[in-house]
Amino acid sequence: MLTSLLTQFIQIINTQTTFILFLLAQLAKLTAYSKKPHVTSIDSLDYQKLVVDDLPTVVELEKLDYRLLLQQHLDQTGKAIKPVQRRKNSLAVPKDILCPKCQAPHDYLYNNNGGKGQFQCKICQTNFNHINKFQKELLLRCPHCEKALEKIKHRKGFTIYKCRNDDCSYYKKRVSSLSEKEKIRFEQEPSAFKMHYIYRQFELSMNELAQDSKIDTVVNLSKIYSSPRVLGLILTYNVNYGLSAEKTAALMYDVHQVKISGQTVRNYARSVASLVRPFTDYFPYELSDQFCGDESYIRVLGKWHYIYFFFDAQKKIILSHRYSPTRDTLTAIKAFYDVIKHFDEIPENLNLIVDGNPIYKLAQIFYAKNDIHFDVTQVIGLTNEDKVSKEYRPLKQIIERLNRTFKGNYKPLGGFGSDSGAIAQVVLFSTYFNFLRPHSALEKGQVPVQLPELHVCQDMPQKWLRLLQLSEDFLIAQHAAS
Ligand SMILES: [Zn+2]
Ligand SMILES: [Zn+2]
Repeated sequence: MLTSLLTQFIQIINTQTTFILFLLAQLAKLTAYSKKPHVTSIDSLDYQKLVVDDLPTVVELEKLDYRLLLQQHLDQTGKAIKPVQRRKNSLAVPKDILCPKCQAPHDYLYNNNGGKGQFQCKICQTNFNHINKFQKELLLRCPHCEKALEKIKHRKGFTIYKCRNDDCSYYKKRVSSLSEKEKIRFEQEPSAFKMHYIYRQFELSMNELAQDSKIDTVVNLSKIYSSPRVLGLILTYNVNYGLSAEKTAALMYDVHQVKISGQTVRNYARSVASLVRPFTDYFPYELSDQFCGDESYIRVLGKWHYIYFFFDAQKKIILSHRYSPTRDTLTAIKAFYDVIKHFDEIPENLNLIVDGNPIYKLAQIFYAKNDIHFDVTQVIGLTNEDKVSKEYRPLKQIIERLNRTFKGNYKPLGGFGSDSGAIAQVVLFSTYFNFLRPHSALEKGQVPVQLPELHVCQDMPQKWLRLLQLSEDFLIAQHAAS
């Protein structure tokens, strides 16, 4: 009886084993073809691959000296270039207009379109528009053929630039990809086809630039169950020490006997970030005129996102921490805004030092068009493995240091489940970096921004709570002022 029961059991077990093995085999097939993103580490992201190559190249117009050009012409041809002979009824060129390329005075300039602002230099042949002089100094070139792009249209929200070169590789490739039928139509009606390389440059109001991605909050800090002390402790562990929400919760229980979930820690982080962001972003910082920009990465829902940092290279203050899924001109423009909004008047030597990505030069053009001028120094290799010149090596170290600090703080947290969670972490990190974290590169290892209100606090949790109070006061004062 017993043996027959045992045999029966063994049979059942065998059937089950076969079944399990079958299922495992099926599972293996599934995972082999799975499109689940494989986690790449931050360090193995290839900078070069992330550069978008369809943006125009920005070149600074080469400067010439009209006096040298006049002399050269005389030496070579034996004849002098004479000032423009104007017909009696033709418009004179105003005296204050100079050629942007060779500085030739107005006598050498042709009035190209009957007084509408287009001029041509008789000495160096440069065509230019007086109103957008600066734009001429920064020239947009086609990324495919290097020819200058021409501004063709002005639409609400953007300006369109076009490469008109029929020998452009981009144009030729597009034309050759047309079907026979399309080619016939193209010959008859070329304007119906958009074959040339086109670039759209945005135009945004300063108001739109100020807007940052929203942080969705789920708890109201004034109504939370935890005591202020508990909140201060949570922030210290989660932000200063970069412990994940789960670890913070575990530590709160193991050390302080406070029962709290990881989700609650995340909820608190978001609400605190939302409260301190205006304070951190609009604080009247004392700044230098040298700023470095850099991008770091953060993983959200299995995908890498960019964080655009801009910070004062001397004072070690983070001014921008924009979050974006892509590396684009728009975010670069917004990150620049975070720096320049701090100045009532743009300092004469304002310099933004960034890597070689074209988005930064395009962002500079955007501001030049809005009559906001500053320097953008692009240092190739500033943020990757390449060597940089001796002049920029200290800056490279400064940037690498910030990025290391950020990554060190972010890495143990793992990825984020939402945009809001990621943005909150970046805001909290910047707040901590500017107001709470001693910086060894500063005198006596000081915190970048010394708040007297925090000096009297006994410990870090208290400093966080005081910072929350200051942020609230700041919001109230801003509200009253508007
Ligand atoms: Zn000229
Ligand atoms: Zn081209």
